[in-house]
Amino acid sequence: MKGKVIIFSAPSGAGKTTIVKHLLSAFPELEFSVSACSRPMRKGETNGVDYYFISIEEFKQKIANKEFAEYEEVYKDNFYGTLKSEIERIWKKGKHIIFDMDVMGGLNLRMQFGDNALAIFVMPPSVDHLEQRLKSRETETAESIARRIGKAEQEIIKANLFDKIILNDTLEHALEEAEKIVFDFLHKK
Ligand code: ADP
Ligand code: 5GP
Repeated sequence: MKGKVIIFSAPSGAGKTTIVKHLLSAFPELEFSVSACSRPMRKGETNGVDYYFISIEEFKQKIANKEFAEYEEVYKDNFYGTLKSEIERIWKKGKHIIFDMDVMGGLNLRMQFGDNALAIFVMPPSVDHLEQRLKSRETETAESIARRIGKAEQEIIKANLFDKIILNDTLEHALEEAEKIVFDFLHKK
């Protein structure tokens, strides 16, 4: 079967991973698309669960082999991409797919899947909030935070190209809204 596709995009630190994890526990019919990426694994991450962690060389080989539905060099030398095999794997199980990806990748996939897809942008209350959240997550160096913040403004400008925008001010409000939007999309005729 070809299931539905739900895409969450946002600047890094806006809260999309938090929201996606909540939705996965609320909707058993959804499965997370594990992306391939070439950045180092963070403390607490597991290969094959958070990402398929591969080298830059391996990533480039997979690009050459046309194994990706989409990919982006999100930050210099940090490639991220959705493997076509991952999409097939989840659909074969009869599940709908939920994606967490950068803004360009999200818009790209949205175009490929048409009406079968819903693209959601997670909006932080401000860029200052983003910086605060990235600091409090304690996963990034000062340089990596600066790179992520540097990209955020260009990403926020593209929010209106998405089907829905969720403002992640209080987490409780954002989770409630995300649940409602996803429920409506999964149950629409
Ligand atoms: P992303 O996946 O978009 O990079 P995360 O989900 O990792 O973002 O969230 C970044 C950090 O901000 C995490 O430490 C998370 O716990 C925290 N966070 C998420 N939503 C909120 C919120 N509404 N208020 C305060 N902190 C939040
Ligand atoms: P992080 O390093 O914080 O895990 O992710 C950095 C950025 O890469 C985030 O915006 C994340 O959503 C994005 N990303 C993760 N997987 C993919 C993917 O498969 N494709 C694209 N285009 N971006 C991705």
